[in-house]
Amino acid sequence: MANTTFDTVLIANRGEIALRILRAARNLGLRTVAAYSDADRDLLHVKMADQAICIGAGPPSESYLDGQRLLRAAELTGAGAIHPGYGFLSESASFAQLVEDAGLAFVGPTAASIRLMGDKVSAKQAMLRAGVPCVPGSPEALSDDKKQIHALANACGYPLIIKASGGGGGRGMRIVRTSDQLDSAVSLTKEEAGRAFGNAEVYLEKFLEHPRHIEIQVLADAHGKVVWLGERDCSMQRRNQKVIEEAPAPGIDRNALRALGKRCVKACEMIGYRGAGTFEFLYEDGEFYFIEMNTRVQVEHPVTELVTGVDIVREQLRIAMGCELSFEQKDVRFRGHAIECRINAEDPFTFAPCPGKVERWVAPAGPGVRVDTHLYSGYSIPPYYDSLIAKCIVHAASREEAIARMSGALGEAVLTGVKSNIALHQTLLQNPGFVTGGTDIHHLERFLEEREGPAQRQTK
Ligand code: ADP
Repeated sequence: MANTTFDTVLIANRGEIALRILRAARNLGLRTVAAYSDADRDLLHVKMADQAICIGAGPPSESYLDGQRLLRAAELTGAGAIHPGYGFLSESASFAQLVEDAGLAFVGPTAASIRLMGDKVSAKQAMLRAGVPCVPGSPEALSDDKKQIHALANACGYPLIIKASGGGGGRGMRIVRTSDQLDSAVSLTKEEAGRAFGNAEVYLEKFLEHPRHIEIQVLADAHGKVVWLGERDCSMQRRNQKVIEEAPAPGIDRNALRALGKRCVKACEMIGYRGAGTFEFLYEDGEFYFIEMNTRVQVEHPVTELVTGVDIVREQLRIAMGCELSFEQKDVRFRGHAIECRINAEDPFTFAPCPGKVERWVAPAGPGVRVDTHLYSGYSIPPYYDSLIAKCIVHAASREEAIARMSGALGEAVLTGVKSNIALHQTLLQNPGFVTGGTDIHHLERFLEEREGPAQRQTK
């Protein structure tokens, strides 16, 4: 492992997660350095960090996505570790390699692990070897042999989905319902994948019609100790973007989840995984199917923190310092129910991002309410980044109480100057499907279609 005796962490991210990392680092007695873009001078964590260093202009390619600048910032400030947060360079194997090669600690897995899990075909193969259930499909990337592709498709059964090995962010996928669509779907997806990801490899798998999105959180230290911290249900999505997440997943057999968690632990042991990670699954008709692994902290990690009491970001930093996990699997206890609503600065109808000046912001508070945010009254949201501005997370004894608590909390929030999806969340919390729990990943989009109504749809 790289240098594990750091006392200073460079935060290579922005917004709420930068603040979250700063707090965890401070809690461990570490010095913090905020690496910020020109557009982010007014961010809270920039003011709060022990040191702050500007790494370039607002557009991400000129700052947060420029690995060399981040490394230089670490050198200049004496940082021995870099925490990449989520998004930006957090899943870049080449950035992790740069950090490793510079003798610094990357707060995350090794570059080799990121590379292995970043390629969906190699990730799936590794999972199959570890006994993790995957979506049935082609065992490797498709060749150019059309006959062979048709044979694989027939064996898998229609409908199926063609996916890019190097795909991400919900791009590079195409659903195929009948065999006459297969050839063109394969060649189009290959072409797109080559252009978008610099890797034209594609594979096929069974398309599941009504799955739920269930994911398993793991933590692995550098000494081979691995634990799983339960699951999250992230089925409330719009365009593959999660909107509401919760833990535990309502209505799923605990024994089946425990067996799945153990498989994920085994997979981490087999690949020598280190750090925080998430195994994402589709869940349909009582079966789990692995789709991908995220090798970083996730936006929705707080719901797991609230039901387990484990500070995931603190553990990430401790793992990078070479410490052993401070608890065993048997110490992990699940308490109550947690829900997270992602608050975005966006138009609640068109979903267009809505940057601008926040005139007034009053965050919800009270027992069982946690708000992770970088907002303050008078803050100007720059136009260059994701529209996530706050996460409202609640914890209560039961799911029903958690929903009530979330309703109350969102009702307290005051946000003026920019548009947001707070009112949409309030409506969703009363949606009968959501209240019952266990909706599939298309539920939110169906709800939005109904909300729009036929008249508005026609005028579009
Ligand atoms: P990305 O890395 O782009 O997020 P994923 O493999 O995680 O790609 O898939 C993104 C989303 O696409 C999933 O959450 C799911 O909604 C849909 N999807 C992917 N594979 C399948 C499948 N086999 N059947 C049905 N839906 C799928």
